[in-house]
Amino acid sequence: MRRPLVAGNWKMYTDPQSAADLASKLKNALGGCEWTDIAIFPPFTSLGAALDAIRGSRIILGAQNMHWENEGAFTGEVSPSMLAKCGCSMVLIGHSERRIYFAETDGILNKKIKAALNIGLRPVLCIGETLEQRESGITEKVVEKQLTAGLDGIDDLDKMAIAYEPVWAIGTGRNATPQQASETHKFIRGIISAKWGEKFASSIRILYGGSVKPENARALAEMDDIDGFLVGGASLKAESFAAIAESFN
Ligand code: PEP
Repeated sequence: MRRPLVAGNWKMYTDPQSAADLASKLKNALGGCEWTDIAIFPPFTSLGAALDAIRGSRIILGAQNMHWENEGAFTGEVSPSMLAKCGCSMVLIGHSERRIYFAETDGILNKKIKAALNIGLRPVLCIGETLEQRESGITEKVVEKQLTAGLDGIDDLDKMAIAYEPVWAIGTGRNATPQQASETHKFIRGIISAKWGEKFASSIRILYGGSVKPENARALAEMDDIDGFLVGGASLKAESFAAIAESFN
């Protein structure tokens, strides 16, 4: 059985004070959560405050991005080892906002995943098609390419998770239907089975992301191949994030 993972991507929201407030509310609501893993991904400058607030709970801390080198002349970047030493154990790689606004390619993301695994961070590779790609019927081709190029040369998927996030559903209020999400999750699991084997296909967690809210979470959570959520907007309110986590209970 795959244990669900409900993760909150705080994007470029919160300062240290508001991050500490949000994280401590989450600790109260979900700190001892037994039915699902809970992870939060604050901005870099709020990692320390969030970590202090969740200390002693089961909530996992992660970062939204990183460089692939551990140090060097890369002004403005944050490295895998810095994140690990700041208490992170997970990292988002290839969120569509990174791909679209910061031109992150599958090749760059592949280097980042390898670097994260090397330092002991658990990467969540985000993949998903645009509306235009879905309407042209190439969703499967797009996610297959993102998955196989992102994971090229990686044999052990034990520490990985995948987030399927259709770009047209992120921050738009328009979520994929449970059937649409589940179909693509099944497809992704099939690719993993064919290329990496059944052991990884049956154990890897595939999260759905894109306008998940308390109102639509349960129907999505009930689908067999949906092993959790990556939540943006609704993770910024402790009540709505907790209600979403409750959908796996
Ligand atoms: C996200 O940022 O990964 C996301 C899914 O955002 P939202 O839930 O706001 O659509």
